[in-house]
Amino acid sequence: MKNIIFIAPPATGKGTLSAMLKDKYNYIHLSTGDLLRSEVESGSDLGQTINEKISVGELVSDEIITELLIKNLEKLTNQNFILDGYPRTTSQAQTLNKIFNDLNISDYIAIYLKIDKEEAKRRALGRITCSGCNKIYHLYTESMKPNQDNICDICGKELVQRSDDNEETFNKRFDTYLEKTAPILEYYQSLSKLVEVEVCNEKEQTLAKIEEILIEE
Ligand code: AMP
Repeated sequence: MKNIIFIAPPATGKGTLSAMLKDKYNYIHLSTGDLLRSEVESGSDLGQTINEKISVGELVSDEIITELLIKNLEKLTNQNFILDGYPRTTSQAQTLNKIFNDLNISDYIAIYLKIDKEEAKRRALGRITCSGCNKIYHLYTESMKPNQDNICDICGKELVQRSDDNEETFNKRFDTYLEKTAPILEYYQSLSKLVEVEVCNEKEQTLAKIEEILIEE
């Protein structure tokens, strides 16, 4: 299976799709958002700096995020991987390209998950995540509700809403996406690595489209 880079506006379901692909095809799932949130939870000074950005819907600096990625590089060499949330700027895409060249990684695709802003907002406002294992649930989608209110089906820990999943921060995250991240679509297009997938209502349908691409490529 090819390595995958997900490029997407906020709350498109890239975390959920990554988890499904991981379970089915044994991918390593590297989510920079999850890595950053763990750093925030650790209560470190760095975590505080990161939280100041995440909580207002801005990007963490390229320096911080690239350092975090470099610390996790061995994950990119052992097994096929999904990069969820990196790169998010042209500079990060260029850094990643250098890293891939150094590690001899060329077998990858960049999947652009296309979604309408209102649908992404609906998803962000209904999303709840397990505080233990990070499994994602959705309050407004029948098939993604937990069996018991506020309790994770898998590990039994409490479900929480992400601090950046409120309307104001969502709007800012969406603007940040358009300004900083959308330009990297052209970058991957120029490398002939870009494929586009329109997000469907049911996650299984979106997954099926991705699987078709992975088989074709
Ligand atoms: P996500 O979980 O992918 O939605 O990311 C949550 C937040 O973490 C984003 O809104 C950014 O503030 C921050 N973040 C995640 N990945 C990156 C990145 N590659 N560069 C900068 N900030 C990031």
